[in-house]
Amino acid sequence: MVKAENVHKSFGSVEVLKGIDLEVAPREVFCLIGPSGSGKSTFLRCINHLEQVSGGRLSVDGQLVGYREKNGKLYELKDSEVALQRRDIGMVFQRFNLFPHMTALENVMEAPVQVKRESKAVARERAQRLLDRVGLADKAGNYPSQLSGGQQQRVAIARALAMEPKLMLFDEPTSALDPELVGDVLDVMRGLAEDGMTMIVVTHEMGFAREVGDSLVFMDEGVVVEAGNPRDVLTNPQHERTQSFLSKVL
Ligand code: ATP
Ligand code: MG
Repeated sequence: MVKAENVHKSFGSVEVLKGIDLEVAPREVFCLIGPSGSGKSTFLRCINHLEQVSGGRLSVDGQLVGYREKNGKLYELKDSEVALQRRDIGMVFQRFNLFPHMTALENVMEAPVQVKRESKAVARERAQRLLDRVGLADKAGNYPSQLSGGQQQRVAIARALAMEPKLMLFDEPTSALDPELVGDVLDVMRGLAEDGMTMIVVTHEMGFAREVGDSLVFMDEGVVVEAGNPRDVLTNPQHERTQSFLSKVL
């Protein structure tokens, strides 16, 4: 579903991604861990074309992100084509970024109506179903300010799902939450995984990675240091850098 081959990303003279190689299979839950500044968010943002890679190849579902290849040459996609690629990818951030002036239901309805020109009736029906799925059927009429952080984050997940993405990216979705609110959000993500959603999850929740993850990658300073089955990597890290990181977070 996602394939990165020697992906590089620089900001000016600072190289943040230094040749990332990895592959995410359909229906896989792929967890990404690593110290602050190692490039995790940057990598997710490249997948969603919020950043453009500086080198290498990055593809989602067989399509190069941001480029078309013709006769061995790469051509940049137009903004409208990038927007089409992005439609299929849902992203949930550390901060929930809900529209404050819209109810939970309206937040979830917004993108299908605005981006896909879907009828409000169809969008509303789906939004209600999705709010039910994230355990918030009774909060549909609440504004974000009337919801807890964990509830807002579950609305954000429902909002991403409303576009019926084929891939979901999560960037530390629980790190801004009070500890007692983390479980509900992880439960929603676990449910999505059980339903077969392909997910890339940047997280500090090692329990989630161990129980739900199919793969775990440890990134440091813009490279993949270690990758494998989450249980193996977490219990028996092979690299000194992985060991040192895990000793601080576990
Ligand atoms: P954290 O765990 O703190 O979220 P991260 O692994 O997600 O860290 P990134 O946010 O990807 O790390 O940042 C990697 C490096 O890239 C950092 O040194 C950061 O300062 C730099 N960086 C990120 N975005 C930009 C940008 N737009 N311009 C310049 N430098 C950037
Ligand atoms: Mg980050």
